[in-house]
Amino acid sequence: MRCPAALLALSGLLGLAACAGSPPPSASRNPCQGKLGVEGRAEGTRIALEAWNDCHVPVLLHLSLELDNLRASRALPAEIAVPPGRRVHALDLEVVRPDRPSGYRAASQVQVGGAPHPDSAARYAFPFGGGAPRKLSQGVGGDETHQGVHHYSFDFELPLGTPVLAARDGVVFQVMDGYGEGGKRVGVKRGNAVVIFHDDGTFGLYGHLRKGVCAREGEAVRAGDFLAWSGNSGYTTGPHLHFAVGVAPSAGGEIETIPILFAGDVVPEKNGVYGPGPTGARAAPPGSRCDGAGARDS
Ligand SMILES: [Zn+2]
Repeated sequence: MRCPAALLALSGLLGLAACAGSPPPSASRNPCQGKLGVEGRAEGTRIALEAWNDCHVPVLLHLSLELDNLRASRALPAEIAVPPGRRVHALDLEVVRPDRPSGYRAASQVQVGGAPHPDSAARYAFPFGGGAPRKLSQGVGGDETHQGVHHYSFDFELPLGTPVLAARDGVVFQVMDGYGEGGKRVGVKRGNAVVIFHDDGTFGLYGHLRKGVCAREGEAVRAGDFLAWSGNSGYTTGPHLHFAVGVAPSAGGEIETIPILFAGDVVPEKNGVYGPGPTGARAAPPGSRCDGAGARDS
């Protein structure tokens, strides 16, 4: 089964990183690509349709069926929530006229992460360590790049090699890696980034990272855990961390950033200084072994 909306949703996620640019081709595949599907199992005049999800985040399937001489046990299109690592019964198809041929064609759109229900009580840690407060160079509605769906984004000026830390508990959904120094030049588009899925269906994005991201897709992280070193990859005006939280629209398309509050109910403003955030259980590895080589020092 093809999952066109998953790709749309993914491109949306990457779109969240407008100032981080697009991902490298090697990383642009949807982490859930090939890990989702719908299968039919025939039992007499009945076909049981099951949806499966081997990806590491929940998905919501919007399942459409073209039916020939079959009747569905529920209204179509159907919404089917599938938790990570699970297989669920979607619906049954019953043959209408057993003396005639029957068949079906399934098409589904996939909402990666499931239906979002942003937790208004969530508070985000400042997503960097390093021991010193840092300036916010562009905030909500910033006129450089924080427009449209990127409205609720935050750029923290960080010296190269500052630890980038998870702002909230979650699961690493996607890692984009492999790009060196970027800049504000024509042709520079692609940057390194980490996308973390939160249990309320929202995604946190950390952009412009240094090559050699330490976070791995599918691993659970706690707020304050080390993800990567800050960098200057992608289209940037200088070293900084682009951070935003967003949701995937149900029909696919670009991820939309949403308003968030940091610890202390703070909404960082341009030219203010903030953080650093508290360091979690997994701190930056001493000797920075995971820098560049991509190896994890754990
Ligand atoms: Zn930004």
